Amino acid sequence: MRLSQLFTKTSKNIPSDETARSARLLIQAGYIHKEMAGAYAYLPLGLAVIDNIKTIIRKEMDELGASELLMTTMQSKDLWQKTDRWDDQKVDIWFKTELKNGTTVGLAWSHEEPIVAMMKDYLSSYRDLPVAVYQFQNKLRNELRAKSGILRGREFLMKDLYAFSTSAEELQDFYDRVSDAYMRIFAAVGLGNDTYLTYASGGAFTQFSHEFQTVTEIGEDTIYLSKARRLAVNKEVYKDDVLAQLGLNKEDLEEMKAAEVGNIFNFGSTKSEQLGVTFTDQSGHEKPVYLSSYGIGISRLMGVIAEHFADDKGLVWPTAVAPAQVHLIRLGEASQVVKQADKLYSSLTAAHVSVLYDDRDERAGKKFADADLIGIPNRVLVSDKTVNDVSYEWKSRTSDESELMSEEQLLKTLAIKD
Ligand code: ATP
Ligand code: MG
Repeated sequence: MRLSQLFTKTSKNIPSDETARSARLLIQAGYIHKEMAGAYAYLPLGLAVIDNIKTIIRKEMDELGASELLMTTMQSKDLWQKTDRWDDQKVDIWFKTELKNGTTVGLAWSHEEPIVAMMKDYLSSYRDLPVAVYQFQNKLRNELRAKSGILRGREFLMKDLYAFSTSAEELQDFYDRVSDAYMRIFAAVGLGNDTYLTYASGGAFTQFSHEFQTVTEIGEDTIYLSKARRLAVNKEVYKDDVLAQLGLNKEDLEEMKAAEVGNIFNFGSTKSEQLGVTFTDQSGHEKPVYLSSYGIGISRLMGVIAEHFADDKGLVWPTAVAPAQVHLIRLGEASQVVKQADKLYSSLTAAHVSVLYDDRDERAGKKFADADLIGIPNRVLVSDKTVNDVSYEWKSRTSDESELMSEEQLLKTLAIKD
């Protein structure tokens, strides 16, 4: 990616209608564009971050044996009536609209009902089970307040996974595997130390559901966490009897602000019974399918990462999600400098290192300030100094020290920093 070709521009103006630091920085650096409160477009840099998060998640979904699909945004009223979740009194964040013929349709705030109903066409025997499907899809929710930028959108991107099992035990086994996969995902995006498996209230089938909560001041939730046990409980279940059941003591728990980045749910057989999703077991008996569902708020996660690592100069991305691994800055327009920078850009690209190349004719101060704001973890400078020394100047986003190195050393350093 060449900065001279990137249409987005960085801005010094702090967006006054955004209170969240992540939203301000993401807008100023050109990652997102605000369409209206709670609705943001993802610009090239922002989309690159989203894609990196998706890649990390896809790898774990593949390992779970789940298949990717894509459901529709328009949903049937009849279907949601069957499970008693159509009524605005029951689900208060619905967006609903009408077809030209007067038929009311709902706009997806979740895909649980449609996925279960759809899978009914494909599940009949125990031989078809277990099976798991997932998607990356926008959800639309008429949230009362959308005040934390991409942490709470009215339109946002979610990864949702649904598993269909033959028994409660088989479901539980998959549930535990997903729970572990989620922790690996949050670790891979850089939030491993601050994300806690959190006990939350359950539904008709189980006492608990589980949330994945990342400790952050901007979070809207309060959790009570045990650092030693690496788990937490949310406000709903912060009661003496529950704590005793989990072997937790009030005195050992810390109250913290946190953002819910994921949520996993065991529906047992309730939803399948409501929607009539059954299978025939080995002895020919008809049984309800067991359902569990697993969400990760992709856009919220991006906002939480931005919040978590930003410093007073701008964004700071962990390498795994950064829009590029290297921010290559050319200082000066002398032909030798241009030549050396172009050459390095080609060889890094050839070595599959992703590069944001600042090839603009701008002053050094502007280039450095932009690089700080954009927050790519590695910075490489090409200037008169490096041309004369046949070297490159490398520094990390968060340190003031730089090092001169050969191309070979540079490639090694980048591989290690990866
Ligand atoms: P919350 O309690 O924050 O409103 P939720 O429990 O309603 O979230 P789920 O239905 O469990 O959310 O959705 C799965 C995940 O999607 C959540 O864990 C969260 O990360 C994300 N998410 C939910 N609502 C939003 C939103 N309005 N904007 C961005 N992400 C969201
Ligand atoms: Mg939730």
